[in-house]
Amino acid sequence: MKFTREELAAWLARDNFDEIYAQADAIRRESVGDVVHIRALLEFSNHCKRLCRYCGLNAANQSATRFRMDPRDMVETAREAWEAGYKTIVLQSGEDSWYTADLLGEVVKQIKRTGMKITLSCGELPESVYRYWKDCGADRYLLKHETSDPKLYAELHPDGTLEERVSCLRTLKRLDFETGGGFMIGLPGQTLDTIAGDLLLLQEIGCDMAGIGPFIPHPDTPLRDTPGGSTELTKRAVALARLLLPKANLPATTALGVLDSAQKQGVFSCGANVIMRKVTPNRLKKLYQIYPASFSEADIRAGRLETEAEIRALNRTPV
Ligand code: SAM
Repeated sequence: MKFTREELAAWLARDNFDEIYAQADAIRRESVGDVVHIRALLEFSNHCKRLCRYCGLNAANQSATRFRMDPRDMVETAREAWEAGYKTIVLQSGEDSWYTADLLGEVVKQIKRTGMKITLSCGELPESVYRYWKDCGADRYLLKHETSDPKLYAELHPDGTLEERVSCLRTLKRLDFETGGGFMIGLPGQTLDTIAGDLLLLQEIGCDMAGIGPFIPHPDTPLRDTPGGSTELTKRAVALARLLLPKANLPATTALGVLDSAQKQGVFSCGANVIMRKVTPNRLKKLYQIYPASFSEADIRAGRLETEAEIRALNRTPV
């Protein structure tokens, strides 16, 4: 569907959004069915050279305890996830050049032998690296554009530009990755018009996936005193993303679950069809602190069963 920026911003501001939630839910059912995909999320390094002002992993955060997973442990964790029933693994990290293109390519090749689909989420890299990882067997790439307002983007990212970020997304799309964009709700200075622009950018790029989640302040970042994003506004943005991108994979993002588990359930009735479940080893989960959150200590198999049960309780089918 096509909408103008003004229409989207006006909808986001409505007193009552029920009609659009219902429409998004109907489109979700017609376009992607009642299935909820459970993705295994492996956070393999929290080293990051970037300075994103909202993120707990940013290079200037001296309080973070940094870790890197051994590539053999990454492959072993993926194998456990496969055996527990996961069909996709998301390998996510800060921008950490310790993992060379060759090294991560080797990890991708080895995990691929299990039959799993692989999503990478390792930040901005040259086209040649993205292409190499595609050749190694990577299927999808997640790189949120974070905000479509170039001025706000520059304020939040002293070492990057929106243009570079979007150019990476276009490259990924051209290389035939299933491409995931996305953005945060509640960044300081963001308006409903910015969010409308964010939604239109996802559509313009032709994103196959979109992660839309609330900003959550991290105490060891420059944005420590900024209020967090609204869950209601996040749900509204997810619902509108479903109207704009009927076939996209839209996760009920981890950040949304952290704020309010009832809202996470709500998000499944307004357009989302994906959930990510951490398979990061327990000793490392608490160190991968993008924002403060509590974590389940359940092992990989138990965690998967827990999520499957939650999805079935909503009359949806876990895959
Ligand atoms: N380095 C990769 C990248 O830049 O895409 C992946 C890791 S990065 C930590 C993953 C995502 O975390 C970012 O795209 C951002 O949207 C989200 N994030 C970071 N800090 C956040 C915060 N304080 N609240 C909510 N989301 C946050």
